Amino acid sequence: MKAEIIAIGSELTCGAQLDTNSQWLSCELEARGWTVQRHTTVADDRAAMVRIYQEAAQRSRVVLITGGLGPTLDDITRDTLAEAFGQQLVEDEDSLRHIAALFTSRDRQMPERNRVQALRPEFASVLHNAHGTAPGILLERSTPLCTIGVMPGVPAEMRRMFHERLVHKLPASDVFVRRSVIRTFGFGESDAERLLGDLTARGRNPEVGITASNAVISLSITARAGSAAECEMLAAAVRDQIREKLGDAVFGEGEIELHHAVAAQLLQHNLKVALLEGPTTGGLIGQWLTETEEFASRLVHSQLFPTLSSMLPHHADPSAANGAWEPALREHGKKLLTERTADFVLLSSPSTLTVDENGVRKQQGSVIVLGANLDQSQDVSMTGNLAVFRGRAARMALNQLRLHLLKAR
Ligand code: ATP
Ligand code: MG
Repeated sequence: MKAEIIAIGSELTCGAQLDTNSQWLSCELEARGWTVQRHTTVADDRAAMVRIYQEAAQRSRVVLITGGLGPTLDDITRDTLAEAFGQQLVEDEDSLRHIAALFTSRDRQMPERNRVQALRPEFASVLHNAHGTAPGILLERSTPLCTIGVMPGVPAEMRRMFHERLVHKLPASDVFVRRSVIRTFGFGESDAERLLGDLTARGRNPEVGITASNAVISLSITARAGSAAECEMLAAAVRDQIREKLGDAVFGEGEIELHHAVAAQLLQHNLKVALLEGPTTGGLIGQWLTETEEFASRLVHSQLFPTLSSMLPHHADPSAANGAWEPALREHGKKLLTERTADFVLLSSPSTLTVDENGVRKQQGSVIVLGANLDQSQDVSMTGNLAVFRGRAARMALNQLRLHLLKAR
């Protein structure tokens, strides 16, 4: 069944505030089997708001609205809702009592302005707000059938109202939806699409979506069916097909990061690593692998060298060493393997930034993984932002180790 969400506030449309309410509500609705087909963000503009509510009520079985329920003049959600559906505004006695009591409990006199918050369209009911002065509104339309729930903009109040007052009043969806995610590393979005072929075609059930973030490609699998078990069966079949097509590029399912997968391998096989990171990864691998004590238990050494001369103080002339960083870094890494009894050493090089004639900035560096039977290096070269470059380089180093461990076992 179809739902949609409307977020109200000029602070959202002007860019001062990110609309997180719609995202949160979409997750809640989708988890309950609803298909959220549209998000609308609208400024505090009377005519636009009226039109948007009317259109949404024609299209969707459930419409959730947040924001604009405050006492100030720009909070016009109540008025526009009444106007859109041809109703009068009436004062809700219970709401007024609650708002007044809230001020009394704070040792304050209720400002006259707050009285408007007790207004509701005449044929609507109130969603009690135990945590603030803005009650929500529930309005049922019959032609076509549509349930409209209005909640305050303040995210914490909205979430509690949704759970405590609204969700059980929404019609139950007749479909189950289950989402699962497969996380992969090692190729681009278009490669993934090519490898997956028909699986990513629109309109299939389950539907497979591809998103790329920080060089990690996520495949989200959305299955819709009449029961949770049927959803799971459909999704499992697609997950198997994806794993078969993408092989070792898959590093996990769900909210997993690449370093979690590598840490799990290290823990499983009781292996230890040492890190020697130059500006190419800038200490990122060390940051990740010290996120938890369990991960950190796999680290025997972690060092960040800001410049090559800081790693190799005996080089009198760092600029001479610069061209020859690779043997020097390797030598240092090999020492760590034996002296620190590490099973593997992850190294990253100094990085260089070049700017071409068009002003395009390109970062370059290398990552190396050393082990008893392993010496692999990979160049990393990227245009754009330093943080993204480092994230990619750090993941490339970890991925080399991950693939090696997969093959070795
Ligand atoms: P009240 O004015 O009583 O707090 P309200 O319903 O009028 O409630 P708004 O004035 O619209 O709410 O917003 C209150 C706060 O909530 C603001 O800080 C605003 O930035 C934030 N907010 C509003 N809408 C959203 C949204 N969609 N996502 C995230 N934050 C929001
Ligand atoms: Mg407001």
